[in-house]
Amino acid sequence: MKTFDVVTLGELLIDMFPDRIGPRIGEVEKFIPKPGGAPANVAVAASRLEMKTAFIGKVGEDLFGSYLKRVLDQERVETRGIRFDPRTRTTLVIIAMPDENSAEFVFYRNPGADQHLTDDDLDLDLLSSTRMLHFGSVSLSDEPARSATFAAARFARDAGARISFDVNYRPSLWQDTEQALRQIKAMIKEVDLVKANEVEAALLTGEEHLDSGDPSGLERAARELLQQGPELVVLTLGAQGSYYQTRQAGAFVPAFPVDTIDAVGCGDAFVAGMLAKLARIDRWQEELDPNNLAEILTYANAVGALTSLKRGAIPAMPTLDQVEYFLSEQE
Ligand code: ADP
Repeated sequence: MKTFDVVTLGELLIDMFPDRIGPRIGEVEKFIPKPGGAPANVAVAASRLEMKTAFIGKVGEDLFGSYLKRVLDQERVETRGIRFDPRTRTTLVIIAMPDENSAEFVFYRNPGADQHLTDDDLDLDLLSSTRMLHFGSVSLSDEPARSATFAAARFARDAGARISFDVNYRPSLWQDTEQALRQIKAMIKEVDLVKANEVEAALLTGEEHLDSGDPSGLERAARELLQQGPELVVLTLGAQGSYYQTRQAGAFVPAFPVDTIDAVGCGDAFVAGMLAKLARIDRWQEELDPNNLAEILTYANAVGALTSLKRGAIPAMPTLDQVEYFLSEQE
């Protein structure tokens, strides 16, 4: 029996959001601090979907660090896996939003506490008591967090967890694209589920025609990633929707048309929606058939769409009731 449905690992940080959409990064006049970090966002979103969740990561031994732990506690995310680093600050991310569907990020970490996560920091009890472990590539950009992330993935997998990886590529965190691709590809070999957006899928596979109008490009890209090891590859295309691929089948599932305010956090919300469904499935090979997968992506698309209706990431994540109500209204 596993106590947790989803444990996420990686960055828990402060997102400095611009007070309005429009200005580029140098022109923003006011920034508003909000809790963030993709894996932390996923943990909160999954908790709001009534999954048992926990978070593993490192923040600074500072006021932002203790604030962030409190936020996760309030969201009923188990926080005993959080470590406090006396040497570095909680990471900040400065954000500009030139329009509602795009964002510019500057990470203030040189290094930040999240990069200092070590093997010894890992709460092995959490890793052995979860059905799924999820993380992204931000924790792969530097040591020691990179080794800790690989160690966590292997430990959780050996203990029977499914491993989920969101490519979540942030170019400015890496020395160069080649280094990023090498580490991301090394991780893809180790995981069960890979999620990438269209930009990331193009970068990883060289496939240029990623469009729902002609899913053959999506299939080529997804199959290439699938060949590297995972059982399931999911590609997201923002307001268009998402595409799944297993060895047996692949299909595009359209997004829900909504009046988007800002798309920050949609990818994390989408992941939480997927994990909420996948955590209930034991035998992926037999049970992940086209019917099930279409239902899972429809659900994840709904969680993503609802998140685009409010500003910010964590503040915008919907509850289970809101997702169910939204889906019932669509029928
Ligand atoms: P990422 O944030 O990782 O780049 P996407 O922007 O592709 O991810 O969004 C993930 C999912 O969220 C999409 O596949 C879609 O289901 C949903 N989504 C994102 N933006 C919108 C939008 N503007 N309208 C409706 N759904 C959206």
